[in-house]
Amino acid sequence: MGFRSLTKQVLSEWDGEEGSLKEETDRKPTSRSLHDQRLQAVVSALRQSGAESVLDLGCGEGKLLRLLLKARQFHRIEGMDVSYGELTKAMNRLNYEDLPPKQRERLKLWQGALTYRDQRMNGFDAAAVVEVIEHLDENRLQAFERVVFGCARPATVVVTTPNADYNALFDRMEAGTMRHTDHRFEWSRDEFRRWTEKINSEFQYQSRIEPIGPVDETYGAPSQMAIFTYGD
Ligand code: SAH
Repeated sequence: MGFRSLTKQVLSEWDGEEGSLKEETDRKPTSRSLHDQRLQAVVSALRQSGAESVLDLGCGEGKLLRLLLKARQFHRIEGMDVSYGELTKAMNRLNYEDLPPKQRERLKLWQGALTYRDQRMNGFDAAAVVEVIEHLDENRLQAFERVVFGCARPATVVVTTPNADYNALFDRMEAGTMRHTDHRFEWSRDEFRRWTEKINSEFQYQSRIEPIGPVDETYGAPSQMAIFTYGD
């Protein structure tokens, strides 16, 4: 497959909400969607961190939660979202009511907001914030930073967001537009790196950034992931 058609395929997976992506069971293993690759990268980072408890902030319909449940390393898994509709979808997709009691004990879903301090966010080894920050108004981003990095302060925080540099490769996107109508911003690799450096200096975290998806020499990968660690 040529690079253009690959990027077209990647973009077509963004049509509508990412939540409307096909189930991975419908897909051939050779054509893993970008979102599946992203979720796998997040799970690997969380596994490597040694975390046993994970909070998925902005969990949406629970795709990451489902993967986390499969890994025995994670004893306590919680998903939080502001949208009751998404949480209901997650409960259904995870078959929450029919999970064996041992599995159900490991999992909890609750409604909350990322921009308000909340004690329920405390005490986790790690937090995942997957494709969520770009949905926050830029003037609420600081509140999010204080809530997650300042108050909840898990030892590991994994954040993913689109790489705006890569948008240049999508023929169907006009310059200056975004991948999703609900995105309030999309950051270039440089903007994301500068944001991670600001978090590090303000909240005493350390971080590294990894690309997600096929890497273009000029524009990088479609998605970017920062892994923050505290207290090493
Ligand atoms: N992490 C999921 C969903 C990403 S879509 C995934 O990768 O599949 C973004 C999600 O963030 C939506 O479910 C939306 O309801 C949630 N969200 C947006 N603003 C939020 C806020 N302020 N607090 C909590 N969740 C929020």
